[in-house]
Amino acid sequence: MDDMTWDHTTDFLVIGSGGGGMTAALVAHDHGARALVVEKSDRFGGSTGMSGGALWVPMNPHMAEVGVSDSRDEALVYLRQVTKGKVSEDRLVAYVDGAAEMVRYLEAKSRVLLAPCPTYPDYYPEYEGGKPGARTIEPRPYSARKLGAHAKELRRSEQGLVLGRMGLTAVEAATLVKFSFVSYLLMLWILVRYWLDIPARLKGKADNRLTLGTSLVGRLRHSLLDRDVPVWLETAAEELVIEDGRVVGAVVSRQGKRLRVRAEKGVLLASGGFERNRAMREQYQRHPVSDVWTAGNPHNVGDGIRLGQSAGGALDLMDDAWWTPVTMIPPDFAWLLVVEKSMPGSIMVNKAGRRFTNEAAPYVDVVNGMYAANDPAAPSIPAYLVFDARYRRSYPVGPLGPSKLQPDSQIGGRLKKAGFLKKASSLKALAEKLGVDAAGLEATVQRFNEQARAGKDTDFGRGESLYDRYYSDPKITPNSCLAPLVEAPFYAIEVFQGDLGTKGGLVTDASARVLGQDGAPVPGLYATGNCSAAVMGNSYPGAGGTIGPAMTFGYIAARHAVGAASKNSTTTVATAAE
Ligand SMILES: Cc1cc2nc3c(=O)[nH]c(=O)nc-3n(C[C@H](O)[C@H](O)[C@H](O)COP(=O)(O)OP(=O)(O)OC[C@H]3O[C@@H](n4cnc5c(N)ncnc54)[C@H](O)[C@@H]3O)c2cc1C
Repeated sequence: MDDMTWDHTTDFLVIGSGGGGMTAALVAHDHGARALVVEKSDRFGGSTGMSGGALWVPMNPHMAEVGVSDSRDEALVYLRQVTKGKVSEDRLVAYVDGAAEMVRYLEAKSRVLLAPCPTYPDYYPEYEGGKPGARTIEPRPYSARKLGAHAKELRRSEQGLVLGRMGLTAVEAATLVKFSFVSYLLMLWILVRYWLDIPARLKGKADNRLTLGTSLVGRLRHSLLDRDVPVWLETAAEELVIEDGRVVGAVVSRQGKRLRVRAEKGVLLASGGFERNRAMREQYQRHPVSDVWTAGNPHNVGDGIRLGQSAGGALDLMDDAWWTPVTMIPPDFAWLLVVEKSMPGSIMVNKAGRRFTNEAAPYVDVVNGMYAANDPAAPSIPAYLVFDARYRRSYPVGPLGPSKLQPDSQIGGRLKKAGFLKKASSLKALAEKLGVDAAGLEATVQRFNEQARAGKDTDFGRGESLYDRYYSDPKITPNSCLAPLVEAPFYAIEVFQGDLGTKGGLVTDASARVLGQDGAPVPGLYATGNCSAAVMGNSYPGAGGTIGPAMTFGYIAARHAVGAASKNSTTTVATAAE
C-alpha cells in the first residue's frame, strides 16, 4: 500500500483510551513521536474510568512517605509465589522494574499525582515478600472543571460514590466503613463540600471532585490535552494493516467513516478484555458464565484480541477473569461485593445452606470457591450473602446504606420492586424464601456462631489474614471479621460470580510486543491491559494489580516502539502541575 492510500499518518497508534492506552500515548509523545488514540465509544477512560483507580506498584516512591520499606527481591519473591510459575521471569522483572519507573515518570512529567494507601495490604501479605500496605497507591482527587468541555466525555460509574453521587478516595472509603466518630466527621465534610458546589448542583448530580478511576483518567486526559495528543472518540479500530509481515497501521471507523491510519512506529492494542462478549465467554470460560455479571466497560467485547489474532498473535489465560462476587442491581448493574463479604455478621451459603469458602478472602479466590463448590446437588451459583439485623444496621449492603441511616422502609424504586433485599423473621423463613435448605442453613449458622464467639473460623480461616481484616469492624472482638448471626430479622442478597474484566488475551513479551504462535514477536504490534494475557497469571497480587500492569506495559510499549527503551532521556516534556 503506498502513502497516497492513507487517510492519516501518525507514529504510534493507540487503540483504546483506558489507563494503559493514554499512558502509552503520553510517553510516546514525550519521546518525540506523534501519537494518536482512537476510542470506540463516545467517552474516554474505559473500565479504568469506572474503577477504583488503584495501582499496585512495588517499590513505589510513596512507600517511604508512610514508612514501608520494599525491595526488588521482596517484590519478585512475592510475585513468583502469587503467579505460581505461570508467568516468565523476564515479564515479572519487567513489571517490578517498570512499574515504579512509570509512576516516577508520570508524577514528574504529567498531571498524574498519586497517594499511598498505607494500610491496604497485599492480597497475600503473609507470603514471603508480602507487605502490610502501601504497594497500593491511588490517584489524588482532581477537579472535573480542569477538563473543561471534555469533562462530559469522561466515563464514570455509580459504584464507589457516596449515595451514588459524591466522590471519595479509597483511603476515605476505608475510613467511612469503620463508622467511627472520624467516619461521621468525614461523611459530613463530603456532604457539605458536595452541596456547597452550587454551580455544579444547579447543573446536575455529577460531582466535580474526581476520585478513584475518574481522577486517574481525568488526569491522563488532561495531560494529553497539554500535549495536543489527539483522542478520537467514536472511532473503532476494525482491521490491522499488515505489510510484509509488519503491522503498519489500522483501518478505523470514525463516526461511521472508514479511514486508513498509518502508524510509522507501531500499533498498541489497549482495547480492554472480552467481558461483554457473551459468545467469546461461552467459548473460552467455565460455565455458567455471562456477560451481565461483569462490572466492566460495556464496549469491551474483545476487539483487540481478534485484531491481534488476525496478525498471528497467540492467546493465553482465556478461561480466566479478574473475578469478584457481585450482586445484581436491577435491571443489569453488577455491584462489586468487596466490603460486604468480610464485615462481621454475614456468611455466604449455597442452596444446601452450607458455607463453602472464606468469604473475606481476595475476591478472585471467593469466585474460584463458588465455581469449585458448584455441585448440581447443592449449587453455589448463585450463592446468598446471609446476615442479621445488627449487620444490616451497621454496614452498607450494595447500594444500601446501613439501616440506621437508611431503614428498610426507605428502600424504594427499582430495588424494592425487584425484591433485592430478602428479609424474614427467622432463618427458617428466610431459607424458604430463598429456596435454600432450611435445616442446612440453621445448622450452618449455629456452627458459625460458635466459631464467631471463639474468634476462630476452623472451617475456612476467615479473619486470619491481615487482608481479610482490611474491611472489618475493629469494634468486634476477638476476630473483627466474625460475629454471630443472632438478631432477627434475618436478611439475604443474591451473589453471582462476577468480574472486573477478563484477563486472558494476546501473549506478550517483556517489551509488550505481541508474540505469534512460534513465540516470535509480530513486528509493529504491542498489547497492554486486558486484551493481553495478564502478567499476574491466574492471581491478583493486591489492589491495583490490573491497572498497574496496564499502565506499566503501556509505558514499556511506547518506549520500545519509539526506540527509547534503552535511553533514559526524553525529548519533549510538558508541565508537571495539578
Ligand atoms: C468497578 C470496577 C472497579 C475496579 N477497580 C480497580 C482498581 O482499583 N484497581 C485495578 O487495578 N483494577 C480495577 N478494576 C479493573 C480495571 O478497571 C481494569 O482491569 C482495567 O481498567 C482494564 O484496563 P484496559 O486498559 O485493559 O481497558 P479499559 O480501561 O476498559 O480501556 C479499553 C478502552 O478501549 C475501548 N475499545 C474497545 N474496543 C475498541 C476498538 N475496537 N477501537 C477503539 N477502542 C476500543 C473501550 O471502549 C475502552 O474505552 C476495576 C474494574 C471495575 C469495573
